[in-house]
Amino acid sequence: MTVELICVGTELLLGNIVNTNAAYLAEKCAGLGLSCYFQTVVGDNAERLSMVLKTAMERSDIVILSGGLGPTEDDLTKEVAAEVCGRELVMHEPSRLCILEFFEKRGTVPTENNWKQAMVPVDAIVLENRNGTAPGVIIETEQARVILLPGPPNELYPLFEESVEPYLRALTPQVICSQTVKICGLGESRVETMVKDLIDAQTNPTIATYAKTGEVHIRVTAAAEDAKAAGRLIKPTVKELKARFGNDIYTTEEETTLEKAVADLLVANDLSLTCAESCTGGLLSGRIINVPGVSEVYKSGYVTYSNKAKRRLLGVKKSTLQKHGAVSGQVAEEMARGAALAAKADVSVAVTGIAGPDGGTEEKPVGLVYIACCVKGKTTVKGYQFSGNRSKIRESAVSAALSLMRGCILEYFSKVTFGKKD
Ligand code: ATP
Ligand code: MG
Repeated sequence: MTVELICVGTELLLGNIVNTNAAYLAEKCAGLGLSCYFQTVVGDNAERLSMVLKTAMERSDIVILSGGLGPTEDDLTKEVAAEVCGRELVMHEPSRLCILEFFEKRGTVPTENNWKQAMVPVDAIVLENRNGTAPGVIIETEQARVILLPGPPNELYPLFEESVEPYLRALTPQVICSQTVKICGLGESRVETMVKDLIDAQTNPTIATYAKTGEVHIRVTAAAEDAKAAGRLIKPTVKELKARFGNDIYTTEEETTLEKAVADLLVANDLSLTCAESCTGGLLSGRIINVPGVSEVYKSGYVTYSNKAKRRLLGVKKSTLQKHGAVSGQVAEEMARGAALAAKADVSVAVTGIAGPDGGTEEKPVGLVYIACCVKGKTTVKGYQFSGNRSKIRESAVSAALSLMRGCILEYFSKVTFGKKD
């Protein structure tokens, strides 16, 4: 079954907003086993939207539109879709009441144009929007199924997951299930080489690798008559991947991020944490603090950007800074040790590097980063050479720090033979 996406909005055409809805919807549809051959962006223009929708309905089984369901003049998706599908718009009483309630809760009253959002095409399936006033709409025609969703992602995502996903699932005879194996500390080419034979031999399940900053994800996807059967197909491949990658796999759960895996490890082993950051300037602490419940282990951290701050707050020696420079393994090590002492933390991670675009030399180029991790007095220091712009280098440093931290903690508890990595 084929699906086609149409994202409506002049803001998208002008590049004022990034089309994250398309990425979200495409990924979701692929996960449901739907083939997406076309995606279009069209401005808030009735004629051009009508043209695009007609074309989409001719060549695809399902057409999903996002945006343009709001109350204003330029929101015309529903009106155009109703016209293309040959349906009148009628007042949908439950939606009218929802709009009324939405405004009452906020202590305001709807304006005249808000009622336009309660108008739906005759015989349409109306999807309740709990986070906004525009309901989602499904129009089933002989030619295609047309699904209209509001543009704001905080409305579109829950609407899709609660109503559209079950609707689409019911249309497809097979279910598509996948499991993601997440690996840190190994590069994409290395990972791909290690699973090349599995990729070459794949049928059902299929295997695909996705490179992320500092991580590689392997998605194993199976099609079967039900979720249980798909699970049975996926299991042996995941087992094989676990045998090949061992402790380089930090999770096989979709929702678990690298920072969550690290935070879980700290909480489970009752280890307090501190971070001392130079070039990452709080980004590492920020990612860790994003994990709910991390307050059990994270008490304080340090952003020590200048040499003076490194000395004053972390006790880095003047002589070390003079001899080796701020971006050096020696300084990273003293930062980690100093932070552990100052914060009375069991685990301490320090990052110092050259994020660029200036400040690089032949000897110490932009992207050179040193990370030190100290676990209960035992310090490990590693040097990295990252590429990309300033923000990419900083993000890579954060991911590497999380990977190193995880490796050092596991090593400390002798749960792995560390040192497998490059
Ligand atoms: P509203 O009631 O807010 O007007 P709407 O359904 O009419 O909702 P739009 O007016 O097209 O949607 O877009 C509203 C906002 O939603 C945009 O300003 C933007 O922030 C976000 N948005 C719209 N389309 C997309 C998209 N394709 N990807 C990401 N965000 C989007
Ligand atoms: Mg709008």
